[in-house]
Amino acid sequence: MTDSTLQAVFDQVIDRNPGEAEFHQAVREVLDSLGPVVAKHPSYTQAAVIERLCEPERQIIFRVPWVDDAGNVRINRGFRVEFNSALGPYKGGLRFHPTVNVGIVKFLGFEQIFKNALTGLPIGGGKGGSDFDPKGCSEGEVMRFCQSFMTELYRHIGEYTDVPAGDIGVGGREIGYLFGQYKRITNRYESGMLTGKGLTWGGSQVRKEATGYGAVFFVEEMLKQQRETFEGKRVVVSGSGNVAIYAMEKIAQLGGTVVAFSDSSGYVVEEGGVDVETLKAVKEVERGRISDYVDRRGGTAKLGTSGSIWDVPTDIALPCATQNELDEDHAATLVRNGCRIVAEGANMPTTAAATKVLADAGVLFAPGKAANAGGVATSALEMQQNASRDSWSFEHTERRLDEIMRGIHDRCLATADEYGVPGDYVAGANIAGFTHVADAMLALGV
Ligand code: GLU
Repeated sequence: MTDSTLQAVFDQVIDRNPGEAEFHQAVREVLDSLGPVVAKHPSYTQAAVIERLCEPERQIIFRVPWVDDAGNVRINRGFRVEFNSALGPYKGGLRFHPTVNVGIVKFLGFEQIFKNALTGLPIGGGKGGSDFDPKGCSEGEVMRFCQSFMTELYRHIGEYTDVPAGDIGVGGREIGYLFGQYKRITNRYESGMLTGKGLTWGGSQVRKEATGYGAVFFVEEMLKQQRETFEGKRVVVSGSGNVAIYAMEKIAQLGGTVVAFSDSSGYVVEEGGVDVETLKAVKEVERGRISDYVDRRGGTAKLGTSGSIWDVPTDIALPCATQNELDEDHAATLVRNGCRIVAEGANMPTTAAATKVLADAGVLFAPGKAANAGGVATSALEMQQNASRDSWSFEHTERRLDEIMRGIHDRCLATADEYGVPGDYVAGANIAGFTHVADAMLALGV
């Protein structure tokens, strides 16, 4: 960071949020891009817009008591960080995972501000979750946990206030239990207070597919810049959750071959191409492991035996699992093996050092706040449908998602050009997201 104002803001973030390494990392990544912006627009500094952006508007931490199947009372911690509402109601997912803490929620909420701004839709930024681990819990335990979580959260959220959705560990099942409890407590069928709902009760077509499809539409645009397509390309997609599965589905539709995927237990290589329908059956229906997928494929797929998924040679890499899963050694291996494009389907899956290795080697890199914005964009489309009591077709919704992703891509490149860093998707995304929110904050006053 060369600018002293930005350095001072960053030092203050560290002082105010001790030990929150992921939050520091996410803030640093944005501030690193803003030097040319503060130089050009002194009004942002005068109105302390960047300091204000780095401090959440509201942080809620609460107790979530629930009873497990054995009759024991269990206690988890719930979080909702309402980060910025300059552009619209706070919007962002809920993550249920044992690693969740206030620093993780803040990093995710901070990213969400810029991602949501990039979509061009009227949504602010927020994030929430719990250190609850749904893995190994029964249906009844998950339901009771979700009900208890919402028993506190309901008073802080609403269609015009704060609109949660899913993230890691929160899918259609959990959204259903959360929505049911909100409706029970408030006696309101307020469809627009939560997104990712089921199709028969206010959900949107394409929401489930949106983050993965959107990331692939984004990469398609990056390829187009190089006068290329997915046809004949090898792709490695880490993860096997919602984002990864639908990224793989769209890549296959566009003629690419997904040769590897993973979960927290390891990775799978399948040179002939991953069979997405089998993976869906294993992961979405049976909630199984990747070893179950390998068993099902009868010899065409193999479990990785050493190293990591990033050792598998590929043209394109899509990290779609979790934060900081791709480090500098992985990045060096990808470069050595000829990888040309890395696009983040997850939130901040690439470490800062890895991003530098890729940039130095001339690998095209799409940051998550641009490449994975399709999920939250389609959430905003779900809110639009709820507000007008309408429900759109799959084709119409997918077309809107496609337009939004191509719009984000073009905005990143145009902004990068405008600020003298042509082709830099990171700077383009950070600056375009930032200026959109910052202008709204200036207009709304201190
Ligand atoms: N959790 C998703 C994200 O990281 C989606 C959030 C939403 O739909 O509100 O963007």
